[in-house]
Amino acid sequence: MASAAAAASSSQNTNPNETDSETLLDEKEMKKRRIVRDSNLRRTISSTQWPIIYSPHYNITCFGLERCHPFDSTKWGKVFKICEDAGWLTKENIVEPNEAKFGDLLISHTYFYLKSLYWPCQVARAVEVPIVALLFPCIIERCLLKPFRYQVGGTVAAAYFALERGWAINIGGGFHHASSNSGAGFCIYNDITISLQFLFNDTSLKKLIQKAMIVDLDAHQGNGHERDFKGDERVYIFDMFNYSIYPRDQEAKEAISKAVRLRKFTEDAEYLRELKANLKQALTEFLPDIIIYNAGTDCFENDPLGCLSISAKVSIFI
Ligand SMILES: [Zn+2]
Repeated sequence: MASAAAAASSSQNTNPNETDSETLLDEKEMKKRRIVRDSNLRRTISSTQWPIIYSPHYNITCFGLERCHPFDSTKWGKVFKICEDAGWLTKENIVEPNEAKFGDLLISHTYFYLKSLYWPCQVARAVEVPIVALLFPCIIERCLLKPFRYQVGGTVAAAYFALERGWAINIGGGFHHASSNSGAGFCIYNDITISLQFLFNDTSLKKLIQKAMIVDLDAHQGNGHERDFKGDERVYIFDMFNYSIYPRDQEAKEAISKAVRLRKFTEDAEYLRELKANLKQALTEFLPDIIIYNAGTDCFENDPLGCLSISAKVSIFI
């Protein structure tokens, strides 16, 4: 799962009469603003760098235990190496993110959920690798949680770069099964929710970002940011997924603004036809200030989890 953000039109609010006094904000909103103000996740970028974010810290290895799950937990490094070997990217022309700290994560996650990650059983359940429950918390922290937190930092940095450059890519993130108080499906932290909360609550942006669209083309139905943004009219969720596989979360599905259900082993032509028609319709219903795109790498025909039949040619295109 890779996450990318692209800025669309801006709708800067310049109405001087609008009531925006911090005194009228509730304590929750004030807390979010303080988190953004005190964070170091927003990175600077030089004129010689691309708005592409990656860190070797993304990759998860833990004495070979990572092979207990069909998910490739070092795929982010492989993607970067392919791009590097092809001469498209170098370590110098990309940006390394900072690790999201406990305080940053609180912009979306509950304190109790974050504290629960000190329990190996909780992490083992979220990453679906039972043997993780037998590891020492310090090993889980270093080998598992830290890489995820770097990827969260990458998605937040990408969201900001998209505002500066018009587009940005994080070669990581896209953890759409994690919500504010729960982790699941190899997702611990909800990086997409966190990045949007940063933009919505960053007073330095002067309300540049008021409406966001999430385009989720991962083969699985998203159910993390769906739960986080349920009932929030600022966020439109477009989700195209194989309905016969995990998570089949009906409650979360109610928060999806445009759900496109795909049959098992859907092929290129049908996939592209559905994507084009439904995305076009979504953009007539909702004009976002920014689009967060969760790239669907598990739509690929050889992926063991997605059960779709999208060729490499089309997988690269989407
Ligand atoms: Zn997936």
